Amino acid sequence: MKATQAELEQLAKAAIFAYSYYIAETDVGDERAEELAVASLLPIGYTEGTPTIVCLCGSTRFWREFQAAGLRETMAGKIVLSIGAASGTDDEHFGGLPQAEYDAIKTQLDELHMRKIDLADEVLILNKRQPWCPTCQMFCFELLFRSRCCDAPIELRPYIGESTARELAYAQSHGKRVRYLEEPS
Ligand SMILES: [Zn+2]
Repeated sequence: MKATQAELEQLAKAAIFAYSYYIAETDVGDERAEELAVASLLPIGYTEGTPTIVCLCGSTRFWREFQAAGLRETMAGKIVLSIGAASGTDDEHFGGLPQAEYDAIKTQLDELHMRKIDLADEVLILNKRQPWCPTCQMFCFELLFRSRCCDAPIELRPYIGESTARELAYAQSHGKRVRYLEEPS
């Protein structure tokens, strides 16, 4: 059975207290006692302090990648901030609304995501590879459903949309650590 972060924190506090108590009479100081206690807890997954907070950023067309990354990062012991509507694209959720209403919701969601980045230690950019036409210099998302832009061979290239690019720039300018799903090209 794997302990929760809260249980580990409790355990760590108890261990630190126990170490301090037993070696209070020796020449090992409090700091060293704490180091030893923490070291003894590392093999069971304890990490000192608050877990890293990661904010996932990417196009909502990658909502499945948001779900997968959310699981991976959670299992790595991180607090995950993600899109709230992670069960479909924004178009699927809000595409039926009048344009003005749709635009207002998108703006509101973008703004909300920036506040999540404020809270995060790092951002994970979900830049999944998408079909790219090097001749037309454009992404061709719906290759399977419509005719291609031209006959040039298609390659795959990590995709970062407009909102995600803004979020990336914002995160960088605020000193957040940046990780990518795919190495950026
Ligand atoms: Zn083309």
